[in-house]
Amino acid sequence: MLERAPALAELRSLLGDAYDTWQELYDYISDHYIMDILWDEGGKYGHYECKFRKSGRTLCTLYVKDNELTCLLIFGKKEREQFAAIKASFPSELQAVYDNSKTYHDGKWMYIGLQDSRLLDYITKMLTIKKKPNRNMAMCGYCCDLCKALTRNIKRQDERQQLSLLWEKYYDLQIPPEKIVCDGCRSKKRSAKRVDDNCPVRKCVLELGLNSCGDCADYPCEIFAEREGLSSADAKQKLGSSYNNQEYEDYLLAYDNRSRLDRYKARQARS
Ligand code: SF4
Ligand code: SF4
Repeated sequence: MLERAPALAELRSLLGDAYDTWQELYDYISDHYIMDILWDEGGKYGHYECKFRKSGRTLCTLYVKDNELTCLLIFGKKEREQFAAIKASFPSELQAVYDNSKTYHDGKWMYIGLQDSRLLDYITKMLTIKKKPNRNMAMCGYCCDLCKALTRNIKRQDERQQLSLLWEKYYDLQIPPEKIVCDGCRSKKRSAKRVDDNCPVRKCVLELGLNSCGDCADYPCEIFAEREGLSSADAKQKLGSSYNNQEYEDYLLAYDNRSRLDRYKARQARS
């Protein structure tokens, strides 16, 4: 197992024209599923392997090859039954992959080669057969389950000391670690604790009866701008040489609501 993901520049150079397809599929999975992302050498299947896994169950594995990405999906008996019922609505090349893939004791192993994004919408349908999406973004587009302020994340591993330092470094916020505790944007507990108790975006989304700003025709508005987080590019620009990609990925990715909502909007527009 690799400790860290390969650098984006390396992935871009290996995948070549298939890089955008990789990014789109990776973002789709990250936006919709709470998963551990495990990187390893790709062995005979490619340069790298990227596995999306949680509680001992693998959603799918992506292999980085030269100018190509391969998605490995394994369908068990129930999933094969579900797929068989809708198989005719899939493109012939995916039907052929399905028909020609071997079935072992643990399921049918389908290696799907992707050089462009033509098949992506079908791959996401196949992922949904494997597992229903289980990540729900906050009303403003933050991602509470990634946030180190979330109560259950604190219980698992208390990293508030570092989070407090990084909120100051990236957002000029001064909140002492002991004051950082949050039950999440969507907590229904009466006594729910929230770091941002007076969030104007949450108030607006609730008043409009929406799920998130992603469903609002006025997005991105001035109220949203009050809670707009930093993308990695914004953070790099703001911090210059003191930007650190690893600390951004580990502690600050949760607040990149603009990129997350823009992707959501783009997918909605396509569907
Ligand atoms: S601080 Fe914001 S992003 Fe973090 S858990 Fe609370 S509501 Fe969610
Ligand atoms: S008006 Fe602005 S803050 Fe309110 S839901 Fe729409 S985008 Fe979000």
